[in-house]
Amino acid sequence: QPVLGILGGGQLARMLALAAAPLGVKTLVVDSVADACAGQVAPLVVADWKDYEALERFAAMVDVVTFDFENVPAETAHWLAGRVAVSPVPGALAVAQDRLAEKTLFRECGLDTPAFVAVDTREDLDRAIVEVGAPAILKTRRLGYDGKGQFRLKTAADADAAWAALGAQGAVHGLILEAFVPFERELSVIAVRNREGDFRTWPLTRNWHTDGVLSLSLAPAPDIDELQRRATDLARTLAERLDYVGVFALELFVKDGQLLGNEMAPRVHNSGHWTIEGAHTSQFENHVRAVLGMPLGDTGARGLSCMFNWIGDLPDPAPVLTTADAHWHDYGKQARPGRKVGHATICAPDEDTLAGRVGHVARSLDREEQANPVLQVLAQP
Ligand code: ATP
Ligand code: MG
Ligand code: MG
Repeated sequence: QPVLGILGGGQLARMLALAAAPLGVKTLVVDSVADACAGQVAPLVVADWKDYEALERFAAMVDVVTFDFENVPAETAHWLAGRVAVSPVPGALAVAQDRLAEKTLFRECGLDTPAFVAVDTREDLDRAIVEVGAPAILKTRRLGYDGKGQFRLKTAADADAAWAALGAQGAVHGLILEAFVPFERELSVIAVRNREGDFRTWPLTRNWHTDGVLSLSLAPAPDIDELQRRATDLARTLAERLDYVGVFALELFVKDGQLLGNEMAPRVHNSGHWTIEGAHTSQFENHVRAVLGMPLGDTGARGLSCMFNWIGDLPDPAPVLTTADAHWHDYGKQARPGRKVGHATICAPDEDTLAGRVGHVARSLDREEQANPVLQVLAQP
């Protein structure tokens, strides 16, 4: 029985392990904390990323290593790659860990990005504001997630406050200033490539963020016209450039009908959770298949899906459990402000049925504000 090793024991590892089991694949997870949520469904090795003794034993027990956590240090990934197959390749992980390298690669691959400039010093920041203009977002090049490590500047006068917030982190990892894009829509494309180079994408997902954290997704994104083909072509170009094997996500803004690249995630992605129930093959199953050298499954949607992220704490599951084709996911994590603790996916064969189900769940849970963007889109003729 093949064994898949997963670095990081969060909900992504947990969902990977659950998808791996029916394929006859065992999983072994590494995390630095003993109560990592993937440990509830898979054996867990408790070790940090520099514990090479534990990692040596782990590498000897698995056939392929993959990632739940995109910020595993590049040295750890390289060290493991010297002992066991690692997918995606550490080089792809390294690009995705650095917003500057990532956006530079996007442009080389023909994907436009918001204007950006690297910032290392306070003087750089002033120059960067002149170059990209305001409003703008200052971000750490590395280690940011869920909108952490970011500061929004309304005008150039916010430079001091931005530097006070992020300058110290910038001295260690570098910063990047990006033009703030007043986008029409935010989309993501989830893509998968296997060892043979077979490549597929799921239908584009439309996403809504609150305070930099994904709140709501709708898939397939309505009214995408030729954006699906363009997003798929760009994702394929990127995957081939990186010799990527596995699932990755490309986060996109739509501005004036054009795609702009925000970032890529070198792993399964929150905006692809709907694929568990809403697609013929989920992102998790196809990731396992890809990294273990199996053929890929059909990425087509079964109908329409809406995903709610539960952030901070879980609402009452009953309204979801009692709604047709609605699915509850409790990650088994401690409640904590801003933390992703679960999600729900509501599926339906058509827009009216989905609007009815989503509206019912949202009203029952007092989450109308969260659901509103999807209800508005579904109400459009
Ligand atoms: P993730 O959890 O997706 O990894 P992150 O911390 O890496 O998030 P980003 O994806 O860079 O952060 O930003 C989070 C959200 O903030 C974006 O999805 C988008 O809604 C908004 N955002 C980020 N950059 C810009 C920009 N240049 N212009 C407008 N909005 C932006
Ligand atoms: Mg990110
Ligand atoms: Mg993001």
